[in-house]
Amino acid sequence: MKLGKYSIGVGDRFTHQGKAQLRAIMKANEKGLYISPVWNKSNREHIYVGTEPADTRKEADEAVQALNYEGPYFVDADHINLNTVAKYVAVSDFFTLDVASFIGKESSDEAVEAFVASCGKYLGELQIPGIDQPLYITEALLQGIAGKFLAATQHASEIYAYLKKEKGEGHFITEVSMDEVESPQTPVELLFILKMLADKAVPVQTIAPKFTGRFNKGVDYVGDLDQFAREFEEDVLVLDFAVKEFGLPEELKLSIHSGSDKFSIYPLMADVILRYDKGLHLKTAGTTWLEEVIGLAVAGGDSLDLARKIYEESYNRQEELCAPYADVIDIDGSKLPSVEEVNGWTSERFANTLRHIPGHADYNSNFRQLIHVAYKVAAEMGSEYTDLLVKYADVIGACVEENIYERHIRRLFTI
Ligand SMILES: [Zn+2]
Repeated sequence: MKLGKYSIGVGDRFTHQGKAQLRAIMKANEKGLYISPVWNKSNREHIYVGTEPADTRKEADEAVQALNYEGPYFVDADHINLNTVAKYVAVSDFFTLDVASFIGKESSDEAVEAFVASCGKYLGELQIPGIDQPLYITEALLQGIAGKFLAATQHASEIYAYLKKEKGEGHFITEVSMDEVESPQTPVELLFILKMLADKAVPVQTIAPKFTGRFNKGVDYVGDLDQFAREFEEDVLVLDFAVKEFGLPEELKLSIHSGSDKFSIYPLMADVILRYDKGLHLKTAGTTWLEEVIGLAVAGGDSLDLARKIYEESYNRQEELCAPYADVIDIDGSKLPSVEEVNGWTSERFANTLRHIPGHADYNSNFRQLIHVAYKVAAEMGSEYTDLLVKYADVIGACVEENIYERHIRRLFTI
């Protein structure tokens, strides 16, 4: 099973926007840019919203059928591990093996020594085609990398072995993710992580490292753009080398767990993948939920009231809602509008404050990040929320489609 050169992971918290998301992808396909849609949802999201993995499968299948979409599409069990994978087996065909929590866990001395010994031919200067400076590989460096990543790659191989037994070889896409950690992996670490995966016979097709810089939820990238561009390019070249050298699947590509809306690095990534003719997987995750709130505000009347109510609840429960996302949000509480102020806003003002148009006078990234992490509030509202999603499906769907096509796809693939 192959993913295709370009693919986009579209998360959808409440599983109502599958058709709108697919319309955005099909619009790109009509322009000759073939992108595979992947409906991803993490175990954490399912728990917060109260959905089941089968709901995501149903959403994807229904959207594909309704729009007569004929291309490949996938359902991603996002960020699973050996404890959580079982309930995704039947309905998913893409698995993101999250091994971040195993980074730095101890491995036996024999395992470390065996890995270092297997890398003898790379000692000294190692030239990766395309990278100007050769890497300098020492035994100490390899020992350090093995100490940090052998246990994580071992866990990946255990999840993979389980899936291979349950689903059969070649019947699913394998992604390995290490993005939810504090410090980024360097290109040389990535190189030897890939060797470990190859040694353990994990046919990784997409890999999600942690990149340099801040990837906060729903807002733009914060960091050194030049450094990101350099690191991203080196990672792409490392993958290319690893495919040839270690015999990994030739379609292996980077997966960017973006936390959504990393507009300033989209053109940098586009430049690299076009220059080297490489593929890319981008997870855009949660912005569809924000477009729902924008759509509710735009629709006015009872749905604008509900959008205001969502903000009021979010504002009053900031601490609780932000806690699980502390590492991936930066909210300046002094820049949040008061509940009274928001209750006086028009549809337009509410939507413009929430919608991510960089440079727009009303856009407020603090307001946006708070609502981004507050989907639990809407989940608790139950049908009060979802009934309005149905009632205003057209307005909301147009927002979802525009967001994915205009702000993400067009920027990322420069069309
Ligand atoms: Zn991730």
